[in-house]
Amino acid sequence: MNVVAHCPKCDAGLLVSAAEAPESIKCGGCGHLLPLTFSQALREDTRVDTCPVCSGGDHYIRKDFDPTIGLTVVIIGGLISAVFYWFGEDLIAYSILAFAVVVDLVVYGRLGDVTVCYRCHSEFRGKFQRTASHFDLHTADVLEQEYERKIGRR
Ligand SMILES: [Zn+2]
Ligand SMILES: [Zn+2]
Repeated sequence: MNVVAHCPKCDAGLLVSAAEAPESIKCGGCGHLLPLTFSQALREDTRVDTCPVCSGGDHYIRKDFDPTIGLTVVIIGGLISAVFYWFGEDLIAYSILAFAVVVDLVVYGRLGDVTVCYRCHSEFRGKFQRTASHFDLHTADVLEQEYERKIGRR
């Protein structure tokens, strides 16, 4: 699995391969040395248990997805179908619109999801089993503050 750790000093995203399990990574932005602890499960890409950056065990899942792409497909489909509708080809118009929606769903369904650490916002991508639940604002509030106190931002 690939991990994007965020530098606690300057917030730069640092890409790390969990299989190589380095003990630390040097931030390319500010030179800060970020210590990392990779669990067995992370190294073997089985699941995300403890975060290598903050050792937190709370994560959420979000779609690794740019929402504007999906919207563009539907808008283009809508425009093409409007043309057919204009010429009285209702059936073709509806088919195109339905097709655009299906394409959208397929694209959305194929996109992977990314597991994110509530505390330090590290991102995890790989073939591991998804065990995290969806984003919860209250949990995020509590855990982010806890982490920021820990790294001395508050
Ligand atoms: Zn940095
Ligand atoms: Zn973390």
